[in-house]
Amino acid sequence: MAARREKNPSAERKGKNTQNGTQTSQVQWGRAWEVDWFSLASILFLLIFAPLIVYYFIMSCDQYQCSLTDPLFDLLTGNKHLSDIWSRTPTLTYRAAGIYTLWVTFQVFLYVFIPDFCHKFLPGYVGGVQEGAVTPAGAVNKYEINGLQAWIITHVLWFANAYYFHWFSPTIIFDNWIPLLWCANILGYAVSTFAMIKGHFFPTNAKDCKFTGNFFYDYMMGIEFNPRIGKWFDFKLFFNGRPGIVAWTLINLSYAAKQQELYGQVTNSMILVNVLQGIYVLDFFWNEAWYLKTIDICHDHFGWYLGWGDCVWLPYLYTLQGLYLVYHPVQLCTANAVGILMLGLIGYYIFRMTNHQKDLFRRTNGNCKIWGKKPEYIECSYMSVDGTKFYSKLLTSGFWGWARHFNYTGDLMGSLAYCLACGFQHLLPYFYIVYMTILLTHRCIRDEHRCFSKYGKDWKCYTAAVPYRLLPGVF
Ligand code: NDP
Repeated sequence: MAARREKNPSAERKGKNTQNGTQTSQVQWGRAWEVDWFSLASILFLLIFAPLIVYYFIMSCDQYQCSLTDPLFDLLTGNKHLSDIWSRTPTLTYRAAGIYTLWVTFQVFLYVFIPDFCHKFLPGYVGGVQEGAVTPAGAVNKYEINGLQAWIITHVLWFANAYYFHWFSPTIIFDNWIPLLWCANILGYAVSTFAMIKGHFFPTNAKDCKFTGNFFYDYMMGIEFNPRIGKWFDFKLFFNGRPGIVAWTLINLSYAAKQQELYGQVTNSMILVNVLQGIYVLDFFWNEAWYLKTIDICHDHFGWYLGWGDCVWLPYLYTLQGLYLVYHPVQLCTANAVGILMLGLIGYYIFRMTNHQKDLFRRTNGNCKIWGKKPEYIECSYMSVDGTKFYSKLLTSGFWGWARHFNYTGDLMGSLAYCLACGFQHLLPYFYIVYMTILLTHRCIRDEHRCFSKYGKDWKCYTAAVPYRLLPGVF
């Protein structure tokens, strides 16, 4: 389908394709061809403020015991100047640069040079060489799915070091957290800039590049769809999963080790955060092949949003709960701990089962059972640019009958559980649930806009059958 559409690029650029009776701009594949002023303003805002937000959060923990309001208060009342805060901020060190270089090199090595062996002995796990979705230009990329293996090897080495070799302290990440932030930024900006240059001068697949002519938009949202070096080094898969997500659980372990060092014990809240986020990370790697079919890989181009976001935003802001608990060790009463654990596990169950139901339904073309019954669905169709008609199905039973994005609801319940584990003393740990709510609500709207463009009146039938997005009866 995409290959045929790409044969008619002028029609695509004009953005006037008729699909299922709806006039639509070309939004369903990757990012836009044209930039409206609102998108441009949002992008400039993010380019300027996202790095400052990360710095502000981490600095608040380092200098203000995780208070988000005290630094502002100090600055507004003239108690402190920006230069005072900046002068107390740890700088880039050779040690941090060495650690970071070693870390990234090791992850590149695991990604490129060690073919997956987990799928050979783990029943049900899909690893090794897998195909991604069809790109807008009609290409189908092959990926070496070996993230679970990289995660296992890295963590085995981590524990071997902590309990046996003692090459370095398990608090190493916490102890170098701000110097490492500068390294992560250098890599994030370097890789985004490289991706921009590569998109212009030596793209992997020229037909899968998009140019808006606006420098900032192209830098942020990316030009190339699937930039690669050589046959296997895929930027999106590598930066999305490693070094950020492999690091996520190591960062949490380092925080737990720091609690142990400082207070002689690890609190139950820290264990909860480590366990719940650990399950989420492991789930990501267990389902890495499935992940090739999600919006991140299927629709987003590789620019600063993914490059910098994966290097800096994700490892620094997704791990705020653990960082907070180093400064404020919270020991939850058993009832609260159990309640939070249940919320996290139920959230995870909903997230996983909802994703699984759609995956099973689509893989079997509806020839499966959802909750023990034949699935209910709405037949839908869409047309490619060249007029070819395609058929698809939208599931309306199981969790997909409750709401149109119940997988996001489960994700949000899990996110809330991490935050609640930190108690109610400070705002900082709650950043994650606020951010995820904005991210997933925006994603809902973005995805539905795309689906409406694609399915037209059939999508309307679907939204009539399943009227709510996230919370049945509410939204
Ligand atoms: P989904 O997995 O929900 O995929 C949306 C697509 O599924 C739609 O575009 C449509 O594609 C298809 N679809 C929609 N409704 C139906 C239906 N009723 N039946 C069958 N197919 C349907 O979204 P994402 O890719 O965004 O998310 C995947 C997971 O990743 C989610 O669980 C989310 O919570 C998680 N996530 C986590 C993030 C984080 O930072 N922690 C960030 C983003 C996502 P089609 O064109 O094929 O019809």
